[in-house]
Amino acid sequence: MQQFDMYINGSPVQSGNTFDVINPATGQAFARCQLGDVSHVDGAVRAARAAFPAWSRTAEDERKQLLHAVAGAIEANMPELMGLVTMETGKPMGGLNGIGSGMEVGGSIAWTQYTTELQLPVDVIQDNDDARIEVHRKPLGVVASITPWNWPLLIAIWHVIPALRAGNTVVMKPSEFTPVSTLRFVQLASEILPAGVINIVTGGGDVGAAITAHPDIQKVIFTGSTPTGKRIMQSAAGNLTRCTLELGGNDAGIVLPDANIQDIVPKLFGAAFHNNGQTCAALKRLYVHESQYDEVCEAMTALAQNVKVGDGLEEGTELGPVQNQPQLDIVMDLAESARVDGGTFLTGGQRMDRDGYFFEPTIVAGLTDGSRLVDEEPFGPIVPIIKYTDVDEVIERANRNASGLGGSIWSSDTDRAAELAQRLECGSAWVNDHGAIQPDAPFGGVKQSGMGVEFGLYGLEEFTSLQTLKIAK
Ligand code: NAD
Repeated sequence: MQQFDMYINGSPVQSGNTFDVINPATGQAFARCQLGDVSHVDGAVRAARAAFPAWSRTAEDERKQLLHAVAGAIEANMPELMGLVTMETGKPMGGLNGIGSGMEVGGSIAWTQYTTELQLPVDVIQDNDDARIEVHRKPLGVVASITPWNWPLLIAIWHVIPALRAGNTVVMKPSEFTPVSTLRFVQLASEILPAGVINIVTGGGDVGAAITAHPDIQKVIFTGSTPTGKRIMQSAAGNLTRCTLELGGNDAGIVLPDANIQDIVPKLFGAAFHNNGQTCAALKRLYVHESQYDEVCEAMTALAQNVKVGDGLEEGTELGPVQNQPQLDIVMDLAESARVDGGTFLTGGQRMDRDGYFFEPTIVAGLTDGSRLVDEEPFGPIVPIIKYTDVDEVIERANRNASGLGGSIWSSDTDRAAELAQRLECGSAWVNDHGAIQPDAPFGGVKQSGMGVEFGLYGLEEFTSLQTLKIAK
């Protein structure tokens, strides 16, 4: 079995205790990682703290060159990293609509390259006979990155590259379900970056909690569930540590009566089912006008029945397994509650009779708000299609949820759809699309989907604090 070490101060570290990483397509362990503890967290923070002065003062061009070299190392090791991502997450190498580990690793390269080229401008707000006043963006110090299991490598890149670009050093804690591609990435980056600039400790939530409570961490960037995000904010409060929190979503998609159903259904299906629904900004509640409800249900069901589910390492697989047993339990529990609520299972609804954590792609009709499957984030291959009659009312229903990550309006009239999209209470609103992200457009949630944004200059600024410099004349 392949073994992966932690990295602290540029060197591999073992703890003497290990945990196994399971391939969700087989249910079997395929890798072994180090179980870190508070002493490793302390060591990693100390190394990052010591590396901060030199890294933050490294010339911009040199920092950019080193980060481009990191992108190059990811690219040079792309097939290996794709294999690790597929084995730990279960997501296919290719995947539904090309959304799989190829996209995860390719996106990691693209995000690294784009973010590295970003420039934080100095803002001159006064320059006259009295004084010159400049506003600078300064790095914060040691940034902690805590990541989930659904897009482990890509999300780690989203955290770490802007943190480093802005001149911070980092301590990372990947999900205990999917640490290996992140560990391999840190190993590659450690061969390029100065010792202590990037550090990684592996283990469970206790390791994450030790990091967020550490007094020498200046900022936590966390992607994961809303309950864990709340715990992190409480823990960070002790030291007034800044937080960016990218949390759960329960995104609504609203199909207006004038939408061209045959055109949009493949996009709706992809938005809901790619990565088996295990994407924060996947479409999780599909509201369809009563005039087109049956047509949409029928077309979505046909796609669900024809999608190829299997081991992500096999060519042509579109959907893999649910990533872990606890998540499969959540999906099965929500399916059961949908049955009790009188939902009609148009297709699917059962765990698949094979090894691993496979669940049938499932579409449920006949439910409405108030059912758990509609109100809660399933984070799996099960989607409710909900009937509505009045557009104003459905916007209000979409907004009634505690989450506010993304939302979409589907219509042939894009002007009207854009107006309605702006009434959705969410960080990203799409017209005739859902879940589409790119490195230059800010992405983040409102309400209980979190605070702060990632990507582009807006995201980069979150890894800095403002310093006003006044030069009296
Ligand atoms: P999770 O909250 O269970 O775990 C995420 C990470 O937090 C793991 O590394 C875990 O070890 C760590 N952790 C657990 N307890 C902790 C504590 N007390 N202190 C510090 N760290 C702790 O989330 P998950 O199940 O891995 O991920 C799924 C969730 O993530 C879904 O709700 C999904 O919507 C959300 N998500 C959000 C985004 C976004 O950008 N908004 C992106 C991806 C996933």
